[in-house]
Amino acid sequence: MSADLRQEWLSLLTSHLCHREAPADDRFWCPEYDRMPRERLREVQEEKLRLAVRYLYEYSPFYRRKLDAAGIAPADVRSLHDLPRLPLTTKEEMSLDVAARPPFGEYTAVDDEHWNRHGWMMFTTSGTTAQPRAFRYTSFDREMWTWTNARALWAMGVRPGDRAILCFGYGPHVAMWGMLYALNRLQVPVIPSGGMDSRARAFAIATYRPTVVAATPSFALFLAGVLRELGHDPRRSGVRTLICLGEPCPEATRARIREAWGEVEIQQFYGCTEAAPSCGGYTCGHALHFMEDTHLVETVDPLTHEPVPPGSPGLVVITNLCSEASPQIRFLVGDFTTLSTEPCACGRTHLHCPGLSGRADDMLNVRGVTLFPSAVEDLLRRMPELGDEFLIVLDRTDRGAERLRLQVEMRGPEANAALVARRIAEEMRARFDLRPDVEVMPAGSLPRTEFKARRVRDQR
Ligand SMILES: [Zn+2]
Repeated sequence: MSADLRQEWLSLLTSHLCHREAPADDRFWCPEYDRMPRERLREVQEEKLRLAVRYLYEYSPFYRRKLDAAGIAPADVRSLHDLPRLPLTTKEEMSLDVAARPPFGEYTAVDDEHWNRHGWMMFTTSGTTAQPRAFRYTSFDREMWTWTNARALWAMGVRPGDRAILCFGYGPHVAMWGMLYALNRLQVPVIPSGGMDSRARAFAIATYRPTVVAATPSFALFLAGVLRELGHDPRRSGVRTLICLGEPCPEATRARIREAWGEVEIQQFYGCTEAAPSCGGYTCGHALHFMEDTHLVETVDPLTHEPVPPGSPGLVVITNLCSEASPQIRFLVGDFTTLSTEPCACGRTHLHCPGLSGRADDMLNVRGVTLFPSAVEDLLRRMPELGDEFLIVLDRTDRGAERLRLQVEMRGPEANAALVARRIAEEMRARFDLRPDVEVMPAGSLPRTEFKARRVRDQR
């Protein structure tokens, strides 16, 4: 292997780091990239893509096999026109690679020798399946995460003078780490709350008065309830920014968070362990942007996997162009969204979308109807009579027919449960053409969700 090619890749990435230590102005950390004309952005992407393919071909046997199988030589990739010819990369392929070559597989560009000498940390996918997929990152990558996330936090309005609490454990999950290092770069102090239970976190918010809270949307709602139980009003907590990540955050959930926390700015981070562990996407106050000088973002048709143009809905595919260890090519993340190239009010030129509906893996098929749990969440949380928790239960009747049940709880004792159940059933029929059995329970009946919501029980 030529060490020169690794050096060439790292030099290229370093040459695009701008104002790495400090923001350029009050609105943009890197105005030359955040507002880069799209033709120039394309040149940057093509330069990075060409080298990324050569680099992976040399350092990742997984990608060498994939490209060989597709009959593509690295020199064939010259522009973004060649991108759709490159095969998609899926979770399943990575899982098979891990099973065949445990424990790390070969889909990253580091081996034991390199990682042991230049490593930073290892992250894994949350394993509901047998073996998690592991991703080894290097100290070079820590710099890239810091830089991309600092740009994103700046776009979200986090500023010196803030203080932050990160409601995540000290775990191998990517979500928190890039944010931690970026806050360090901004010199915004951090209250680490890994190892604290939710009461301790609520106590920390009431006592140390952070202005920024980062959490899953589920936990943000839950935490407001714990604060109230402890006799504190979340609306007077001094929190001004809530950064939500790890789950979709539909409009009705944002409205509930605002109701619970008062006049907070709700911002979102978007990414995935495999291809966008630092900032793939972030909100600017108007839309959710993808950072396009560091990640290529496409949407593809869910069935044919052919690219769909901006303006049409499709599944998100991300190519990571800012990593030493893990510059994945065309990873099928699988969230549904619709990309837009329209100018954004914030002045950024990068692609954006109104939001994301959740991973295709979470999508349910009920009696032939496609149903996202986040869409049910949006429907239920628009009803002020209902509390924050709900459960979607799928099972079969005695005769074997599929049955959809919704368990919800009332917010208070006063409302008419039968009337509420009927309204939910009507809304479900109007929106999704589904007729669920609705069970309306007293407030506090359903289990509270603390971290990532598990609101679907599929017992079919
Ligand atoms: Zn914007």
